[in-house]
Amino acid sequence: MRVGIGYDIHRLVDGRRLILGGKEIPFEKGLLGHSDADVLIHAICDALLGAAGLGDIGIHFPDTDPLYKDICSLELLTGTCAMLKKEGCAINNIDSTVFAERPKISPYMGEMRSNIARCTGIDERFINIKATTMEGLGIIGKGEGIAAMCIAMIV
Ligand SMILES: [Zn+2]
Repeated sequence: MRVGIGYDIHRLVDGRRLILGGKEIPFEKGLLGHSDADVLIHAICDALLGAAGLGDIGIHFPDTDPLYKDICSLELLTGTCAMLKKEGCAINNIDSTVFAERPKISPYMGEMRSNIARCTGIDERFINIKATTMEGLGIIGKGEGIAAMCIAMIV
């Protein structure tokens, strides 16, 4: 058994779609990034790569590569899982937390989990997503960005 941790944060800006866990969420702002800026999926990729000792998402999917411009991050997760499989690693479980003052994420969690299950090939029961606000504190509390943390266990 090996564990890995992942953390990511993106800035909220006007004129972008908000994508979390591969699900578009209706909101007046979206996350800024080279890809679709899916902060939750990026944290999950980093946790999986960390557990497998394969570095981080920036090494494998650099934000300077036009190939990844506006890419759906679920494709990055699928690519990450393929790399783990090649190393003989199987995912045991994923636990994650999204830090966002707004919007409310809980109505979309079911769809987010099934997106992640589809890419990772593991049962939804082994994928957990939590959400919390920052009680108005700091950059996330002021609505300037959204962050995510993830822990993954692999076998
Ligand atoms: Zn990211």
